[in-house]
Amino acid sequence: MSSPEALRPARRPTVSVDVGGVLVGSAHPVVVQSMTNTDTADPDATAIQVARLAHAGSQLVRVTVNTEQAAAAVPEMLRKLRDNLGVDVPVIGDFHYNGHKLLVQYPETARLLAKYRINPGNVGGKHHDENFSTIVRVAVDHDKPVRIGVNWGSLDQDLLTSMMEANARAAQPRDARDVMIDAMVESAMRSAELAESVGLRHDRIILSAKVSGVRDLVDTYHRLAPRSDYPLHLGLTEAGMGMKGIVASTAGLAVLLNEGIGDTIRVSLTPEPGAGRELEVEVAQQVLQSMGLRSFLPQVSACPGCGRTTSTFFQEMAQQITGHLRARMPEWRETHPGVEDMKVAVMGCVVNGPGESKHADIGISLPGTFEAPVAPVFVDGRLDRTLRGDNIVAEFIDLLEDYVDRRYTRA
Ligand code: SF4
Repeated sequence: MSSPEALRPARRPTVSVDVGGVLVGSAHPVVVQSMTNTDTADPDATAIQVARLAHAGSQLVRVTVNTEQAAAAVPEMLRKLRDNLGVDVPVIGDFHYNGHKLLVQYPETARLLAKYRINPGNVGGKHHDENFSTIVRVAVDHDKPVRIGVNWGSLDQDLLTSMMEANARAAQPRDARDVMIDAMVESAMRSAELAESVGLRHDRIILSAKVSGVRDLVDTYHRLAPRSDYPLHLGLTEAGMGMKGIVASTAGLAVLLNEGIGDTIRVSLTPEPGAGRELEVEVAQQVLQSMGLRSFLPQVSACPGCGRTTSTFFQEMAQQITGHLRARMPEWRETHPGVEDMKVAVMGCVVNGPGESKHADIGISLPGTFEAPVAPVFVDGRLDRTLRGDNIVAEFIDLLEDYVDRRYTRA
């Protein structure tokens, strides 16, 4: 069989951008990022949410900086994050409309943020270039990278209008969607050019052009990617809630990542009311791991179950083992390097159970309906033992712990 490395798509060549010590682009692993939804003016709530996202695995966390109160609170929030919560994840400021004022009025905030996100559609109408340039100058002065983040919901209207009008005058006008995609790409490229003309280094720029439809996302990035060697941030904007958001984001990201496009990703899920934001980080990690691009967590192969699994025992076991692995990872990450590549199988019956279990590092094949009440355990492809009785889950978890200790303990 080919190695996972041999199967990985070649990444689109880019420069490498240092975002507070996290390297984005070039051959660096695709970076997972996320964003808070707390009021940034509340430094306690924001520091706690940033810490939760970082613990979940977000390597960069963006916070909105929309008011003077929010800008003023950033240094205090970062102090709490570092000193009280012991988290040093790079924090990015998201600016719209008034970034040119806030970054100038709050130099400590400008100094402490790891990157600024600018939406070129939201930097102020007829003073667009002037305001944009002011933000870029602050970035140059503080030696910060910038993400030029175009969004189709706030696309530069002057640019779009002029491109639509030019299209209307053309002998064979193109479809409006086509022009809109070109306008997104053009907005990102012209803004990057302006940023460099103001003095921002080429390797201080990341681009994104987000839309909310999968086909639109793919087409936009197909046009954006060949235009430069800036690293690209990928994600479906306003992906939506629950399964719809997860599936749509995964579909869009997977197509592009498989073509080597994308250096950092975010899955923009609308959380359930009162729920945390960590799910978007878990989904982003799972997308990368499912595609063999990165490893974060041991993977559990479980069959879907069928008429041969008439009790819920098998589903509960798969759930408990998945939960156990996730709960153990924060410690294992430090003490058992490589465990994130482990494969575990939890199978429902004898039809595919032994075969799938043999392909895993450690696997169990449970008895299906009408099968003898025994559960063979396979370790490294060989039958290790057979479990029986009421304590199969706990016994398998003990075996799993032993296996991890034997195979992955740091020398
Ligand atoms: S392994 Fe057995 S229980 Fe699972 S889906 Fe296949 S036949 Fe059904």
